[in-house]
Amino acid sequence: MRILVISDIHANLTALDEVLADAASVQWLGQTGFDAIWSLGDIVGYGPWPNECIQRLQQFPDHLRVAGNHDWAALGHLDLEEFNREARKMVLWTQKELSPASLAYLRSLPDQPLLHGAFTVTHGSPREPIWEYINSGSIARENFPYLTTPYCLVGHTHVPRLYRMAAGACTVHGPIYDRDISLAGPHSLLINPGSVGQPRDNDPRAAYALLDEEQALWRFRRVRYDVEITQAAMRKAGLPERLIARLAYGW
Ligand SMILES: [Zn+2]
Repeated sequence: MRILVISDIHANLTALDEVLADAASVQWLGQTGFDAIWSLGDIVGYGPWPNECIQRLQQFPDHLRVAGNHDWAALGHLDLEEFNREARKMVLWTQKELSPASLAYLRSLPDQPLLHGAFTVTHGSPREPIWEYINSGSIARENFPYLTTPYCLVGHTHVPRLYRMAAGACTVHGPIYDRDISLAGPHSLLINPGSVGQPRDNDPRAAYALLDEEQALWRFRRVRYDVEITQAAMRKAGLPERLIARLAYGW
């Protein structure tokens, strides 16, 4: 199976559609397209199109998905004190926007890691699926013992990264785009594909990844989308200016 791995869409439909189009057309390992989508959470929050992004994912009925903290917050499951002022404002705006069908979809998202073959799929970390940020080698290292599979896919930080645990040492690797990364080896890996809808690594392009399960190959991808379309929709909806501005910088 060839998997499109996406995370942290954050209601940015322009970015999501660009990723879907790119993943459908890019040549990789002698073929184009993908067989399945794995979505690592935070479909909603921050962006102007929560319902539309959910509907888009629902066009892929079998997509594998887990809940993120913003999905959970939109359902009222989390204490809003945990969010900063703008994020809190966005949670309240999103709650008002969501249709009954969207709410039903969000309620269907599991808050525990999913196991799929050699992969664990979660939003934050295997230890704290909704909340923990794996943003350092030491935090990654503490999480490896929680895995029962050799590989784990996470989102939440909005930064593409690969953490490799081998012979008791954890190393951190930035993404190398459009290069085949072999997952096989005497190690465990934690991998973050980056964020579709709100990148935070000074690169405004939407981030995603492709995975070939049989060949155990991974490919980080980056794709340009029309940031100004998303910004205009956010402005029209009266969303916080700082959240609008950050999309242009990828931060
Ligand atoms: Zn997020």
